[in-house]
Amino acid sequence: MFHWLHSLRQRKQEEKSSLLHSSEGFLPPSQDTFAAIGELSRVVRNNPDAVEIYLALGNLFRSQGEIERAIQIRTNLIARPQLDEHFKARAWFELGVDFKRAGILDRAHAALEQAYKITGDDPAVLKELARLYADNNDFEKAAKYYSLLGQPLAQAHYMVKEAQKEPNKSQSYKLTQKAIKVYPGSAEAWLEIICRDFEMAQWKSLQSSLKTGLQMVAEGLGFVLLEGLYQFIIKNSPGTQQCFIDENCSNVIVDTLSSFDQNLIFCYYCSIFLKQSGQISRTREWLEKTLVMDQEFWPARLEILDISQHEQVMTQSFKTQLIFFTRKARMVKRFVCKKCGLKREQIFFLCPRCYSWHSISFRTLLNE
Ligand SMILES: [Zn+2]
Repeated sequence: MFHWLHSLRQRKQEEKSSLLHSSEGFLPPSQDTFAAIGELSRVVRNNPDAVEIYLALGNLFRSQGEIERAIQIRTNLIARPQLDEHFKARAWFELGVDFKRAGILDRAHAALEQAYKITGDDPAVLKELARLYADNNDFEKAAKYYSLLGQPLAQAHYMVKEAQKEPNKSQSYKLTQKAIKVYPGSAEAWLEIICRDFEMAQWKSLQSSLKTGLQMVAEGLGFVLLEGLYQFIIKNSPGTQQCFIDENCSNVIVDTLSSFDQNLIFCYYCSIFLKQSGQISRTREWLEKTLVMDQEFWPARLEILDISQHEQVMTQSFKTQLIFFTRKARMVKRFVCKKCGLKREQIFFLCPRCYSWHSISFRTLLNE
């Protein structure tokens, strides 16, 4: 037995035992699907030349999780000596998708590359290949295929991913700059540049790259740079000390954000950076500014509560309840995909649910 067939059988058995997989993966076959499969099988038995129908039957099997049978159909087609090139490419393509679905990625690559050889820059093939390489952490190839697809945003995204993998710092920096050339609004590339400036404590440079980055990224996406930098600082801060941001750094950030038209999110991030550098009265000023703009802006209320706690005289029991609720409130996911509504605690560039690019937004209202 082929090696892949064996692992496919094994996988199928694992799938059966996983509830999550069966509920998310394949739809249970309906009477209609059974009828369609029966009908199509009958037609192809009588018309072996009906290649279209063969392919459709394979897709039906795949949609029902019967990947083995789908693969069998494609393989039989490809083996036909007289098969038209166009159909051969289609069969390779569908076979690639079958293998991908089965989780046998090297076979999926090989099949899709065969389809690519025949069709050249066919968008459907390029798209499958790009995603496959991206899922496989081969970012250079993913970037290449997104470039062929004419999707500079995605191309730049994977160039940055490649840069993050690059151990040589100056090479990595060059690659990030290249990504910006490919797509000037690449929030992921600007974030890399800003974090690098922070790492080297180059505040002047941080100021100019943050400013340019905020000007270049799409409207409403600036918070990704601020949140991303903030998370980067937390990740790289030793210990759990209260004020872990250099005062010079937060001052530079506040100066930069102040040079833009005042908006809720920028005011909020001014307060966040000031708070972590221990400038509490300035923190309060910026938080109050946000509430003048929007009384319902809950993250600011949470911060005000946090910095005011120490000034209150509270019973132990009251304090315990307050701590409980503020801790719960901090678990509220602040980011949401504008396209599909997926909520997340961490920023994302590609929505993990609907695969939209740069569709993230900040939930300014709790019921958003
Ligand atoms: Zn989404």
